[in-house]
Amino acid sequence: MSATWDQIVERLRELSDLASAIKLLHWDQATMMPSAGGAARARAQATLQATAHGRFVDPEMGALIDGLSEESLSQEQEANLRLLRRDYDKAVRVPQELVRELAEVSGRAYQAWTEARPAADFSLLQPHMARLVELKKQEAEALGYANEPYDALLDQYEPGMTTAEVEAMFQGLLRGLKPLVADVLANVPDPPDWLGYRYDPDRQMAFCHWLVSQLNFDVTQGRLDISPHPFTIHIGPGDVRQTTRPDQHNLMMPLYAAVHETGHALYEQGLPAEWADFPIGGPPSLGMHESQSRLWENQVARSRPFTDFLLPRLKERFPEEIGMVSPEEFYRGVNHPQRTLIRVTADELTYNLHVGFRFELELALFRDELSVADLPAAWDDKMSEHLGLCPDSIADGVLQDMHWSIGSFGYFPTYTLGTIYSAVLFAQATAQLPGLEAELRSGVTLRLLEWLRENVHGLGYRHDAKDLIERISGGPVTPEPLLDYLRAKYTALYPSA
Ligand code: ZN
Repeated sequence: MSATWDQIVERLRELSDLASAIKLLHWDQATMMPSAGGAARARAQATLQATAHGRFVDPEMGALIDGLSEESLSQEQEANLRLLRRDYDKAVRVPQELVRELAEVSGRAYQAWTEARPAADFSLLQPHMARLVELKKQEAEALGYANEPYDALLDQYEPGMTTAEVEAMFQGLLRGLKPLVADVLANVPDPPDWLGYRYDPDRQMAFCHWLVSQLNFDVTQGRLDISPHPFTIHIGPGDVRQTTRPDQHNLMMPLYAAVHETGHALYEQGLPAEWADFPIGGPPSLGMHESQSRLWENQVARSRPFTDFLLPRLKERFPEEIGMVSPEEFYRGVNHPQRTLIRVTADELTYNLHVGFRFELELALFRDELSVADLPAAWDDKMSEHLGLCPDSIADGVLQDMHWSIGSFGYFPTYTLGTIYSAVLFAQATAQLPGLEAELRSGVTLRLLEWLRENVHGLGYRHDAKDLIERISGGPVTPEPLLDYLRAKYTALYPSA
């Protein structure tokens, strides 16, 4: 190995250590920290983040990257250099003053959102968000793009994917999904009573601990804790933490949140450990990450074989509440679709309608077809167009998600891209693993996990997400596998009368 490579490695290790400290502070804040510690914690995080950013954009780093380009490198070193070069160029293209103002305005906008939502008052957020959209447009100009500013924003979360590609994919998905949702919901009865019984939170958590181990989450190299918003975080090699939230009026939410997060956590535990400090040791995109959580949550844990496995174990914990529920009733209960206002609690069938119209609104904002002032009304129009509902309160309308208040434009579409990828992956895994259904019926998921390790996790970031999915499926990424899966599942569950 060359001296230049060694120096790069040293710097990457330092950045990785700083990232690890930042993530641990975040995990602690979300799970353990007394709320009075918030202000001091925010400062500590900002200090570490600024230090890490400064170390990365250091001209010395640029010189080392240039130096490395002249050397003959292994395939892996080449792959790392390509990603490093890309990230470095992006980081130095945005002026420091803009980075600082973006951080400051998003801090203020987020604070305003936390007040605007309970007060149901968009005017508290509006001026901050209007400024944030202006700054994000400036950021897009600084970063550069092929066709339109939104390309630059999307690229921060889903590298290698263009706005035009995502737009075409969403149009195809919504074209198929809307009539399916209308047909299915016309035949859905009221939800069964047992879904809303009281369930002891401690027993819910005990069940979640058992379940994540059953799914091969390695608890010797990770943890499951409680937080208000479930999440997964990779602190460093050998330390992957996930959370869920018990809810005494909801049996399914904590359980399926734990499975969702386990999907994220299994991915993190399967990334190539030898490249942990390097760009190729991470995931290629948010969409790819979400494909893993969706696959385990929906295609695996909401399938008939797996719910048949789950029910008797759940009855052992909650004999009085669900002792009389049949496997058929249970399967229908965990797959009960309905029109709802809130994205995060939406079911598998209607979820992507929520994401679809958020994407349309973001595009309109960044194509200068919509102003922030007109956003609440545009939101309500889209909600009724896509889901046939109109929120009574703006708290359940445009103020329900925090993403836009922290400047995360281009993030929403990755939820649906992940769902599209998950359907492609599961269709391929099923075709290549005969007998998988019988294994799921016995709660055995190791062969599926090994398939994902080999085809996705172990590769880290060797390919952009879209390219990886195309390599695995042997064709272009389309929403058809997802539509086929949803059609087959829901028309069988709720056939037309
Ligand atoms: Zn997720």
